Amino acid sequence: MDDGWLAEEPGIRREEPLDRHSEYGIGGPADWYLRVRDAAHLAGLMRRCHEAGVPVTVIGAGSNSLVLDGGIRGLVVELPRGRLRRLSDDVIELPGGAMMPRAALDCAAQGLGGLEFGIGVPGTCGASVRGNAGAFGTEIKDVLVDCDTLAPDGSEHTFGAAELGFAYRDSRLKRDLAGHVVVAARLRVHEDLPLAVRALTDAIQAERRATQPYDQRSLGSMFTNPPGDHAGRLIDAAGLKGARVGGAEVSLRHANFVINAGGASAADVLALCDLIQRTVAEQFGVHLVPEIAVLGDPVRRIGS
Ligand SMILES: Cc1cc2nc3c(=O)[nH]c(=O)nc-3n(C[C@H](O)[C@H](O)[C@H](O)COP(=O)(O)OP(=O)(O)OC[C@H]3O[C@@H](n4cnc5c(N)ncnc54)[C@H](O)[C@@H]3O)c2cc1C
Repeated sequence: MDDGWLAEEPGIRREEPLDRHSEYGIGGPADWYLRVRDAAHLAGLMRRCHEAGVPVTVIGAGSNSLVLDGGIRGLVVELPRGRLRRLSDDVIELPGGAMMPRAALDCAAQGLGGLEFGIGVPGTCGASVRGNAGAFGTEIKDVLVDCDTLAPDGSEHTFGAAELGFAYRDSRLKRDLAGHVVVAARLRVHEDLPLAVRALTDAIQAERRATQPYDQRSLGSMFTNPPGDHAGRLIDAAGLKGARVGGAEVSLRHANFVINAGGASAADVLALCDLIQRTVAEQFGVHLVPEIAVLGDPVRRIGS
C-alpha cells in the first residue's frame, strides 16, 4: 500500500485513536484520519487512494459502528457536519455529514414536518441513508427523494430512492454499492406549524429517554428485530439483562442495548454478542442478526 503521500495532506492525523470518534468510546487507531473539507475534496482523495490501493473508510458520528481493537487500515474520513438547505416548498437537502437530530430541530424551527423521527437517530444523514435508519414508525426510505454518492474510485453518482433497494435497516449501500459515500441527500418535508413539529420531536425524545439507556454509551439497538418479534424481548426472556463480558453489559433498561459500562474493548462487545446469539438461538431457535457495522481489524498486525 503506497500511503506515504497522505502525510502531505493538511490536517491529516497519523495513528488517530478512533475511540474518540465513536459513541461507544471503543476502537483502535486509524492509520490516517482526516475530516475532509467538502465532497470535491473527498472525491479527489478517494480517486488517489483508489489508484494507490489505500482503503478508505467513512465514519459519521460513530453511533452505529463497532471499531475493532486493532483499528482501521488506510484512510478514515469524516465529512463536515453541515446544516439543511431548503430547495423548495417540500424538499430539503442535507449534507452527508449533517446530524439527524440537528436536522429535526432545524426543520421544527422552520415549520417543516416529516423529519421528526430524526431526533431519535443520533447519527449522520449519510450513514442513516445507508442503513435506512428509522424511529417511531418512519424510516429514511419514507422521506428520501434521492442522494449523491462518491464511488470508491471517486466518481459521482445520484440514486433515486427507488433505486436503493431499501428494506428494514438495509439498502444497496450495504450490498452491491458498499464503499459508496453519501455526500448529500434530498428529503421530502411538508409545511406545518413550528410548535406542532417541535411538540412531536419533544414527544419522541421523551419516549426515547423513558425506554432507552440514553445516558450510557451504546450503539443503540445491537440486533435487528426478527420478523414478528423484538430482539429486546427475546434477550430479556433469555435472562440476559445485566449479563457482562469485561466492560460490556446488556443494559438493564433495554435488553437490546449493549452498553460500554466502562473500559470495554471491542473483543468484550463481540464476546457478549456471541453469548446473546447462542443463548437466544438455544432457547428460542431464533438467530439474531447484528444491526451495527463492524469496522477494522481485531488485532493490530506487527509492522502495519
Ligand atoms: C442511543 C442510540 C439510539 C439509537 N437509536 C436509533 C434508532 O432509533 N433508529 C435507528 O435507525 N438507529 C438508531 N441508532 C443507531 C445510529 O444512530 C444510526 O444507525 C445512524 O444512522 C448511524 O449514523 P452514524 O453517523 O453514527 O454512523 P456511523 O456509526 O459513523 O457509521 C455506520 C456505518 O455507515 C457508514 N457510513 C458513515 N457515513 C457514511 C456516509 N456518509 N455514506 C455511506 N456510508 C457511511 C460507516 O462506514 C459505517 O459502516 C441509535 C444509536 C444510539 C447510540
